[in-house]
Amino acid sequence: MRTIIGAYSSVSAEAAQTIAGLPALHLMLEESLVMAQLKTAEEATFLGQQIRRGQHATRKARRQFLQDLSLRESQNKWKQTTKGPTTHWFFPRFHTTWGRAATSSPIKVSILIGHGEFQCCLFRIGKSEDPTCRNCDNQENDDSIHRIYGCPAFRDQRGLLRQLTRDWPISPAEFGRLMVEEARIVEAVEQFGITE
Ligand SMILES: [Zn+2]
Repeated sequence: MRTIIGAYSSVSAEAAQTIAGLPALHLMLEESLVMAQLKTAEEATFLGQQIRRGQHATRKARRQFLQDLSLRESQNKWKQTTKGPTTHWFFPRFHTTWGRAATSSPIKVSILIGHGEFQCCLFRIGKSEDPTCRNCDNQENDDSIHRIYGCPAFRDQRGLLRQLTRDWPISPAEFGRLMVEEARIVEAVEQFGITE
């Protein structure tokens, strides 16, 4: 999963999964297993729930039903985990990215996971002695939230986001959604010049 999005190895599996818009691998495998079992058996168990063969009119409907259960399971896990705090900001609801791979742009992944050349990130891995922003004098931690929303050094770049969204500042959750759905927002964010 982590190699799919090309992010740092310290990114939590849950955050990586959310950014990639994929359910956990074990859930996908279990879905396939239950689909196979129900070809011959009358019943199978998925996530603690009895699934009967006659319950759905078509295989497609059965598959959809299993995927919906996976989604709910993933959403609950995502709510409970404390890993990937930055990704939680942008994706409070797991299924914002469901089925949509957010893998096209390294900058997109950097911002949404909060990994990259941010002082905060470098500080965490011992490559910087200070997590605060070096682009301004605000004494704030340099992370993706500071860069996109706060840092005065990026006022011009933020102006482009303001133009495009018309209602800046938008919530981080709305920002996360737009980063997944709107190429022009990603292009604007690329102007911030953040590298992996
Ligand atoms: Zn700053």
